[in-house]
Amino acid sequence: MEATTWGRRAPDYARRKREFGDALIALAEKVLPGLREHVVFREEAGPATFARYARTTGGAIYGPAAGRWRPPAKTPVERLYLAGAGVFPGAGIEAVVISGTLAADAVYPKR
Ligand SMILES: Cc1cc2nc3c(=O)[nH]c(=O)nc-3n(C[C@H](O)[C@H](O)[C@H](O)COP(=O)(O)OP(=O)(O)OC[C@H]3O[C@@H](n4cnc5c(N)ncnc54)[C@H](O)[C@@H]3O)c2cc1C
Repeated sequence: MEATTWGRRAPDYARRKREFGDALIALAEKVLPGLREHVVFREEAGPATFARYARTTGGAIYGPAAGRWRPPAKTPVERLYLAGAGVFPGAGIEAVVISGTLAADAVYPKR
């Protein structure tokens, strides 16, 4: 695939995103023959999607860039606790679960 912009305002963005999805399904069909006929819902998401809806750095799926400051679970706002990819320790299922436990610990500190 040629190097090109994935900006939403590119005139052929929607078509190229759809075609990229087609190419990925075709690739998956090499190990899952007939996959295409079983798709009942599909939705393509690219960097512009994550930048738009999750406001991540450059559309990264892992949220803020590595090394960027992330807020802790306990906030200065009374009874407001945070958990998730944008919070310490970071993105990815495991880190997000850890952030959830840190939030729970902040709500109910160990004695
Ligand atoms: C394509 C892709 C592949 C990935 N692969 C991996 C991987 O292989 N391994 C890994 O560890 N991590 C992976 N990740 C990262 C991981 O999925 C995320 O870091 C993690 O899911 C973030 O968890 P979260 O709870 O912060 O947010 P999410 O999992 O996004 O959960 C947020 C939830 O809030 C809901 N929501 C949003 N707004 C509202 C609202 N206003 N009201 C009610 N509900 C709302 C959303 O619908 C969603 O269900 C991947 C991410 C992507 C996008």
